Amino acid sequence: MKTVLLKIFLLSFVFSFSQEKILSIASESINIEELKEMLYVYSSDEFGGRGTPSKGQDLAVEFLIDRYKKIGVNPLQKGNYRQEVKLQFDFKPIVNLSVNGKSFKYYNDFISHNNGPKVKYNSEDIIFVGYGIDDPSYSDYKKLNVKGKVVVAFEGEPRNSNGNFFINGEKKSVWSNNREELRNKKAAAKNNGAKTLILLNDYLYNRYRYDFESAEKGIGEKRMSLQDDSQNGPHLFLFPTRFKNFFSNENLKLDLDFEPNSEPFTADNVAAYIKGAEFPNEYIILTAHLDHVGIQNGEVYNGADDDGTGTIGILEIAEAFAIAEKEGLKPKRSIIFLHVTAEERGLLGSQYYVDYDPIVPLNQTMVCLNIDMIGRTDPNRGIRNTNYIYIIGSDILSDELHEVNKKANEDYVNLELDYRYNDPTYPVFESGRTIENQYYYRSDHYHFVKNNIPSIFFFSGTHVDYHEPTDTAEKILYNLFKKRTKLIFHTAWDLANRDEKITLNK
Ligand SMILES: [Zn+2]
Repeated sequence: MKTVLLKIFLLSFVFSFSQEKILSIASESINIEELKEMLYVYSSDEFGGRGTPSKGQDLAVEFLIDRYKKIGVNPLQKGNYRQEVKLQFDFKPIVNLSVNGKSFKYYNDFISHNNGPKVKYNSEDIIFVGYGIDDPSYSDYKKLNVKGKVVVAFEGEPRNSNGNFFINGEKKSVWSNNREELRNKKAAAKNNGAKTLILLNDYLYNRYRYDFESAEKGIGEKRMSLQDDSQNGPHLFLFPTRFKNFFSNENLKLDLDFEPNSEPFTADNVAAYIKGAEFPNEYIILTAHLDHVGIQNGEVYNGADDDGTGTIGILEIAEAFAIAEKEGLKPKRSIIFLHVTAEERGLLGSQYYVDYDPIVPLNQTMVCLNIDMIGRTDPNRGIRNTNYIYIIGSDILSDELHEVNKKANEDYVNLELDYRYNDPTYPVFESGRTIENQYYYRSDHYHFVKNNIPSIFFFSGTHVDYHEPTDTAEKILYNLFKKRTKLIFHTAWDLANRDEKITLNK
């Protein structure tokens, strides 16, 4: 009896020893030389800043596929690493719009925020919904049936007598903070079944009018969207608030002819994976965007940090898992390495994957670890403590995810985990002004988050070369890049190998 027990004890000791050994070999395989070598190629002028679409981005996609073949990591879809993403360029639509006999002029009086679908309204199907708010404590949609209809909403949220917002009694409101307002009012219209939303908002109207008119005149880039826009909620028209009195009319009558004006094309996401040994139908997904902003005014925007570092980081992590697999240690869960296109054009590649063609079911996708810029340091933190990484969103949907990441850091890496941007309202200085950071909504993990998939966004902050042609490979701090990559590897390793999958508790 004793000897048998001793044998089992020894066996399990040897087994766990070799597991630790394999993990350490895998982790050690993440090294500066490989990160550097790959990043110099990936962000070279030859790749032309990886604009969507471009010859340079095609080269980037081929580079990724070649690398996965070389390290022996299979495509997620049988026989094909590429996922074709259906995109389009958008131009000024052909539109006639009149309300109660008054016709409105495109650009001067309104714009269409998205370019589709072809519609024709000739009816009284237009309903005024006040501020367009739908909150558990107050709803403008109460008692209204807006299914299939066009709804009209005013900007902002009313305030109470002491100047605070009406719903939460505070100084900040998710219903009158342009970016969040747009998202929430669209969602409210969508959830209530409205087909089209007319929003009167000066900031949004002016901003997008400027962007769209500039694009039309050939200043800046052409507008871009997914060919099928239906998951984006109602078709949105933006008007300035000078028409407020006109729209608060009870008996609105609408004539609307809308014809989109666009030019389709495709670009590729790249998806590779390692199959789990015990729970192959549970997936950990690692994401980084393969694109950048291309060539502008003859200058290549190399995008070494953005997002060369996330891209090459994922390749090194994939190789580490592949090495462990070759040493006989497969992960318990499956791990997906997803490189998405057109992030810089509005998170389009990741949206396509999540909303239109998730290659594996979203309800089997446990966690998203998104990497977007991990190779530099943030001048806002000062130069003294550079041994850090920003961790964004880790505890927003799952406390366990937060703990896993924290423990991986303590056990293997020892970076300062800086959680300041976990609060989307924490201020950040960008493009000459101070704004709320909103990072949680600004990279590819967002599309997973909106499906309640716990996510971490790994990030080292913006810097003077952010979205400039000077974001180049020699400015990357490779030792930090390596440490941050290792942190993400060990976090993924734990998530893939723990006995119980992490739970959603928020
Ligand atoms: Zn980026």
